[in-house]
Amino acid sequence: MRLSNFYLPTLKETPGEAQIASHRFMLRSGMIRQQAAGIYAWLPLGMRVLTKIENIVREEQNRAGAVELLMPTIQPGSLWEESGRFDAYGPEMLRIKDRHGRDMLYGPTNEEMITEIVRASTKSYKQLPKMLYHIQWKFRDELRPRFGVMRGREFLMKDTYSFDASPEDARKSYLKMFAAYLRTFKRMGLETVPVKADPGPIGGDLTHEFVVLAENGESDVFLDKDLLGRTVPDASTDFSGDLEPVFKEWTSLYAGTDEVHDEAAWAEVPEDRKLSLRGIEVGHIFYFGTKYSEPMRARVQTADGKEVDMEMGSYGIGVSRLLGALIEAHHDDDGPKWPVSVAPFHVGLINLKPGDEAADQLCEKLEAAFEKAGVEVLYDDTSDRAGEKFARMDLCGLPHVVTVGPRGIKAGEVEWKNRGSGEKSGLPIEGAAEKII
Ligand code: ATP
Ligand code: MG
Ligand code: MG
Ligand code: MG
Repeated sequence: MRLSNFYLPTLKETPGEAQIASHRFMLRSGMIRQQAAGIYAWLPLGMRVLTKIENIVREEQNRAGAVELLMPTIQPGSLWEESGRFDAYGPEMLRIKDRHGRDMLYGPTNEEMITEIVRASTKSYKQLPKMLYHIQWKFRDELRPRFGVMRGREFLMKDTYSFDASPEDARKSYLKMFAAYLRTFKRMGLETVPVKADPGPIGGDLTHEFVVLAENGESDVFLDKDLLGRTVPDASTDFSGDLEPVFKEWTSLYAGTDEVHDEAAWAEVPEDRKLSLRGIEVGHIFYFGTKYSEPMRARVQTADGKEVDMEMGSYGIGVSRLLGALIEAHHDDDGPKWPVSVAPFHVGLINLKPGDEAADQLCEKLEAAFEKAGVEVLYDDTSDRAGEKFARMDLCGLPHVVTVGPRGIKAGEVEWKNRGSGEKSGLPIEGAAEKII
């Protein structure tokens, strides 16, 4: 991609409303632009990261056996009357009337709709288990939208719903999502910890939030330090096999949100392993049994001819919030440091002297070599000042920056900077692209 052809409206000044690094850098690097409180347009650079995150989420959902569909953003209020949530949900729900005066809403979540879809054609336990998911925009009229995409009003969520014929099977579905979440966040270069969450009136202990530890997080968590750095299930994990050991590895030590904090159990944790800090909730998984299937009459016949309400769970990931969480976890004063798996481009290529034949030729050669190898490159071919180019590349946070200029060419070198470590070195022109790839 040539920068002259791209759309990268970077800002020199930090917008006043941006209090934290991720919000600041997303606005400044031209990833997003606010249209109303908590509502953003995704500009090309932001869109590229969003798509990469979405694809990792999708791949790991598919690996775990979930099946993708797409439900609409606008839902009929009548569906929510069935579960009793139309009145119960409160002011976070954006309610709309259509031209006939019918109650509609912009979905804040999809339990009702997926239950309607599955009950329409699922009559027997033989059709279960099923895990269905979509990646769709949600709207919640948050009281205090803030921190950019971290607490937006319109935001992108991946939500999966599981349907089983028995609580034992529902636990298996839960464990699949538990393991899939560990993999998903790890692949993005994020360290997350599953912490016990509040099951509310439903009770039970099968609900976890996946949190990224960060000062600017809005959740308070308590955890045993020894949970950090535990093993994440690898790509060869058999999701139809026994996942209890994975669950055990990650849940046998103390970890919980403030809502479920248990002073007695906390007192047992050795002093030097107690961590009480802030976290960003990037995922939340929840087994809630028959909460929706019962009022909505989503039932199946069991092997012995009985009718039972389907056992359900729901599993959310804040896809757009993850961009904020990733920057909070990886940045310096100059901008984000994107992990390779989600970086908007892998390499930034700076031409210090566009118009200089040798510099242009070498840049084009490098660009072609990168593209041939499937390495995504953003080529700064503009005539802006060198300082401006370097600062802009740092602000974009691409993992590698390659700089080409007449002086280097004379010495037979290009400069290579690793954005993550800040390390710079000269690379012989011949084979430079291959070295970086
Ligand atoms: P929070 O506690 O931050 O308000 P939540 O518990 O209300 O989140 P869930 O209903 O569990 O959110 O939704 C699933 C996921 O969607 C959350 O784990 C989070 O990552 C994401 N999410 C929720 N609300 C927002 C929001 N306003 N902006 C961006 N992402 C959000
Ligand atoms: Mg909320
Ligand atoms: Mg929450
Ligand atoms: Mg939650």
